[in-house]
Amino acid sequence: MIGSVQPRRRHGPTRITGWSLWSLPRRVLCVVLPIELLAVVSLAVSAAHDVAVLPDGWVARLAVLVLAGVISTECSLGVERIRHRRATVPHIDLSSVWTFAAAALLPGLAACALVVILYLHIYLRVDRRAGVRAHQVIYTAATIVLAVQTASVIMGLAGANPYTSAFGLVLVGLSVLAYAAVNMLLVTTVVVLAGEHRDLGTFLRMLRGDNEWVLEFASLSMGALVGGAMASFGLGYAVLVLPPLVMLHRTVLVRQLEEKANVDSKTGLLNAAAWHERAGHELRRAERANQQAAVLVLDLDHFKRINDRHGHLVGDSVLAAVATAVRAEVREDDVVGRFGGEEFVVLLRGVDVTDDRAHAEAVAERIRRRVATLGVEVPGPDGTVVVADFTVSIGGAVFPPDGPDLVRLLETADAAMYQAKNTGRNRVRMGVAGS
Ligand code: GH3
Ligand code: MG
Ligand code: MG
Repeated sequence: MIGSVQPRRRHGPTRITGWSLWSLPRRVLCVVLPIELLAVVSLAVSAAHDVAVLPDGWVARLAVLVLAGVISTECSLGVERIRHRRATVPHIDLSSVWTFAAAALLPGLAACALVVILYLHIYLRVDRRAGVRAHQVIYTAATIVLAVQTASVIMGLAGANPYTSAFGLVLVGLSVLAYAAVNMLLVTTVVVLAGEHRDLGTFLRMLRGDNEWVLEFASLSMGALVGGAMASFGLGYAVLVLPPLVMLHRTVLVRQLEEKANVDSKTGLLNAAAWHERAGHELRRAERANQQAAVLVLDLDHFKRINDRHGHLVGDSVLAAVATAVRAEVREDDVVGRFGGEEFVVLLRGVDVTDDRAHAEAVAERIRRRVATLGVEVPGPDGTVVVADFTVSIGGAVFPPDGPDLVRLLETADAAMYQAKNTGRNRVRMGVAGS
């Protein structure tokens, strides 16, 4: 969902000119407003067409889906609120089980009525308390309306009930893909446009999310099954999906909490235990594939002085800035961790070059140079102050020549890092096993 931009008003009605929507950057509004307009236009077009062809029993179908959607949200309130608090990528709330089933069973207009009711309910019961703004939910609902309309049009090619023929089932599958594509592309586009990093890499990373798209496909597949069961056997079959849906929700939360337990909260990097585990895994993989790898140990120079001069909070901001700089200088699948205090560790995965030592040294040198040019803006009594007087010493070790396992590599890299300290700091030293 779209990130918050300004503090929430607490009291009184809000005039249109005071809506938090207007505080969004213009580039975001240029996407949000046309998409919302498109959703409204698509509703108007469906209304003109659908009112005349509403199938028998549509009210009962809509009522059952509304009830099932409300019950499933109510059963998962606690889980959803916790997931919201730690969402770092567009958040998927699993209501697509019901909205996709609606696309399969109801004309577009009635299916979109379900979207509006369910999202209003989710807003009132989950989002509002989690600090999500109304305009964010409205945009999400608009993307769902467009996803439902797209799925509805595709499944409509097979007639009133797509589940009765092989062609219809193919169309159901295509609709799942189209629904997911419309929803995730539109939401991710706005999240990226609202953020600081607006490049293709960030867009793709967001799209991949914390495997959230797997969750989206799981809930859409359940929606396709619910639609089929309700169309073929009876409306009551919607109830059967509630227990697995609640279980899916809980499993997702457990996975998210596990991931959180691996992350250092100050820097967002892996903590020491998680780094050891992943780096060990990567090293074993390199060994099996007969590849090289390298370990870097980084220690900030005279960091105590930064704390003494500017305070611990500023020290924390410096740690976070260094973590971001290190992450930016290595590849996505290299393993970066905070080892403790002001020390970081990196496992560089093997590359197909003849001299891995030179490669590791070059990466370390890039990191060193980047840290030396960093500036961290902090508020001071006389305005913003830039803290820039910090550097890093780095030691490296290459696998396998400098050590057969992670412990030996760390020892070698650590010894090299101390050599860098002893020879003047702000430098890189590559270790040699046993030295
Ligand atoms: P050297 O160049 O020899 O490494 O000097 P140094 O001052 O960096 O090393 P020293 O080990 O003397 O001090 C490390 C400092 O790091 C002391 C400690 O207060 C600070 N530190 C450790 N963890 C944190 C943290 O989470 N936040 C902040 N702000 N400071 C931390
Ligand atoms: Mg240290
Ligand atoms: Mg230090």
